[in-house]
Parts: sequence; C-alpha cells; structure tokens
Amino acid sequence: MDAEHYRLRDFLTRSAQPYEWHEAGSADADQLLEKLGLEAAALPVLIDGEQSLQAATVESVMTAWGGNQPAKRKHYDFVVIGAGPAGLAAAVYAASDGLSTLVCDRDLPGGQASYATMIENFFGFPDGIGGAELARLAGRQAEGFGAELLLMRAVNGSRLNGQDEPVGLLIDDGSEVTASVVLAAPGIDWARLELDGLDDLIGDGVYYGAGRSEAAQCAGQDVVVVGAGNSAGQAVLNFANQTARVTMLIRGDRLSKSMSAYLIERIEKHPLIDVRLETQLTELHSNDGGLTGVTFADSGGKSETRAVDGVFLCIGGRPHTEWCSREHVHIDDRGYILTGQDLLKDGKAPDCWPLERDPLPLETSRVGLFAAGDVRHGSTKRVAAAVGEGSMVASLIFSRLAELGVTY
Ligand SMILES: Cc1cc2nc3c(=O)[nH]c(=O)nc-3n(C[C@H](O)[C@H](O)[C@H](O)COP(=O)(O)OP(=O)(O)OC[C@H]3O[C@@H](n4cnc5c(N)ncnc54)[C@H](O)[C@@H]3O)c2cc1C
Repeated sequence: MDAEHYRLRDFLTRSAQPYEWHEAGSADADQLLEKLGLEAAALPVLIDGEQSLQAATVESVMTAWGGNQPAKRKHYDFVVIGAGPAGLAAAVYAASDGLSTLVCDRDLPGGQASYATMIENFFGFPDGIGGAELARLAGRQAEGFGAELLLMRAVNGSRLNGQDEPVGLLIDDGSEVTASVVLAAPGIDWARLELDGLDDLIGDGVYYGAGRSEAAQCAGQDVVVVGAGNSAGQAVLNFANQTARVTMLIRGDRLSKSMSAYLIERIEKHPLIDVRLETQLTELHSNDGGLTGVTFADSGGKSETRAVDGVFLCIGGRPHTEWCSREHVHIDDRGYILTGQDLLKDGKAPDCWPLERDPLPLETSRVGLFAAGDVRHGSTKRVAAAVGEGSMVASLIFSRLAELGVTY
C-alpha cells in the first residue's frame, strides 16, 4: 500500500472514526465509484455522507472536518503540549475549573494510547476500551468544558519574556501564543520491533510493556518477554510469581549489561523462568487473529518454535526531551524530565531555580513549566498513571497562577 494511503487509514483508525476501506480495483470499490460517478477521480477517494474528497490526504481530511485552524486566542492561562492521556486529562480538569486552555499535539489526540486496540486495565471499563475511543471521548470532554484542541501542530520552542511574564510558545505553523502556565506531556516513543504480522497482533496476544495486572491474568500460562532492562526483569518476575512459565529472550550475551543485580539474582533462582541469551524473536504464529506461538533463534541460527499465550515487548523507549537542554529543563541520565522533589540535591533546589519556594510536585526546573505522564522521571508508563498526573497538574497550577496574580 502507498505510504500516504497507509497514513490516511492509520489516521481514520486512530481518530476512532468508523469507516470501511475498499482497496483500489476491488469489485466493491469500482461499484461505489461508479454509483457516485467518480470513476475518473484521483485516489484515494473519501466518501463522507453526501460529500466526497478526491486524492484525500490526512491534511485535506482534517481541513474538510473543520481542523487546521489557528489558535483562537493570543494568550491562554494554560497551554498543554501533547494530547496523550496526561495532556487530555489536564485539559479536562483545567478547563472545567474555568481556565482558558489550549492543547497542542503534533499528531492526533491520544498519543501512544491511540495505538492500543484495547486498554483492559483502565479504571471503570471492566470490558476494556479502545485507546483511540478513549482519546476521542476525552478530547470531546475537554472541548465540552471549553478547552481548544490544536491538532497536527507541534510546539517547537519557547520565548521567555521575564520570569513572571507569560511565556511565548512557538507553534510549527509559524504562529505564537502566550501562556501563564505550561504542561509538557510529550510522552515517549516506544522502541518498536519489526516483525511480520506484529502490528495486527498488538492487543491480541502481543503487548508493549507489561504491568502487574497483565501478570495476574497470565497465571499458569506460557509467555515470552523480550528485553533485558529492569522493566523486562521486573515483568518476568511478576509473571513467574503469578505461576506463568516465562521464556525471556535477550539479544545480548548477559543480563548484567542492563539489569540490576538483585533482579538477575531472583531471575536466575526462579524455576519458572527460562533465560535465552543471544536469542531473538523471528516469527509470530497466529490463528483467527490471535497469537498461538512464536519462533526464536539463537546467534548460531538454531531456532525453536513454541506455543505461547502472550508475548510482552519490554524493549524500552526514548522520551521526547531533545528540547530540554535548550529550554533549561533538567533531565535524568536516561533523558526523563525531573520534577518536584527529584530536583532537590541535599534538600536544595538547583542553582538555576530563582524562587524562595521549592519546585511544586510535577513542576520542572523551569518555574511554571510542569511535566506529566511517560516523559517524567519515575512515571509508571500506564494510561491511568498519565491521567492521574495530568489531573494533578491541573490543580497544582493554581498555586503558580496565584503567584502571578492571575485572576480567572
Ligand atoms: C501499543 C501500546 C499499547 C499500550 N497499551 C496500554 C494498556 O493497555 N494499558 C495502559 O495502561 N497503558 C498502555 N500503554 C502505555 C500508555 O499508552 C502510555 O503510558 C500513555 O499513553 C502515556 O501517556 P502520555 O500522555 O504521557 O504520553 P503519550 O501517550 O505518549 O502522548 C504524548 C503526546 O504528545 C505529542 N507530542 C510530542 N511532542 C510534541 C510536541 N513538540 N508538540 C506537540 N505535541 C507533541 C505526541 O504526538 C503524543 O500524542 C500502551 C502503549 C503502547 C505503545
């Protein structure tokens, strides 16, 4: 499929827009185009009720649906960078508390959650909820309270106008807005594994990350965990302690390169954990859209196929914090943003901190700039945790707004 066509399909899926996709040249596609007199139209054609859009792209669909508009105001009480679960939650609570709120995302709302076919461990949804659907509802809720969503627009930089002055935020369409308080919630990029059929099995036996809740559901099952960092080690132990039989696949030749010694010790002693060094996942097997087994191969080319119930990819990620050094925002040695108490050394705020008070919880080393969600040092990498942090920020910012004398 043409890359642009794939992008459009991905866009419709991740915006939780119900649609039918007919491949060019298929009988259904030809019939539909003929019925509408569009046989000569440039593909792809998007048909939405009475309207049709030829040579449709993500951008042209956004415009047709009323998007791609500039920000309505010049100044906001609160600007949120990133419309993932953390950013959207912050927007819902800040807007519902009466703050003028703008949320910018360089992509669609939902962040990584928009890639999750089914989020099964989110509070209040016993049957699970699609990640894209959750994001669509949260976006609608934020807008319902008066927040503005600026989509497919990245924030590229800022302009400091003095410590107690609104900060200027540079948007990638060339415009600029100012904000009294800002939340950075740009998330992380999960490292992805390139394997045939993997994307189709995400949520149906293959998962990025593994929390305790997943472990509880896998009691007595056979699972594979890919990865060699501490999060992979913790996941392996969680599974095995819940009586799952775990095969741990590690590309490197030893665990000690990337994992803490106490985890290695426990993993090596556990009778239900089989550690395979210098071994990589090479194939996924499925039936009726669900995972049934895997093949993995060692560095000598010896391969093995096994029936398994789940594959958990704990191969890490990269936080979106490349902008932090130029914005004087402190990060840890893995690139995650430090906030609140984590900024203090021997009880003292960093030298660059200009105020008498310490940074508030979730406030970064730059006064009035908060961070929440996956991008934050110590975050849990879960939708519920991101939503919780975003909601907390929406209440913490009132202290900063009071310092600035902002009335609302
Ligand atoms: C495939 C998959 C499945 C998952 N399944 C589950 C699950 O079942 N349960 C669970 O609890 N968790 C799950 N997770 C983890 C969960 O999705 C994340 O923990 C959560 O989305 C983090 O939220 P966030 O708001 O911090 O960041 P993100 O979701 O990463 O959102 C960050 C947003 O910021 C935007 N952004 C970045 N830079 C800029 C910029 N400069 N300007 C404007 N916008 C910017 C990005 O486009 C993105 O939309 C899954 C993750 C993946 C990848």
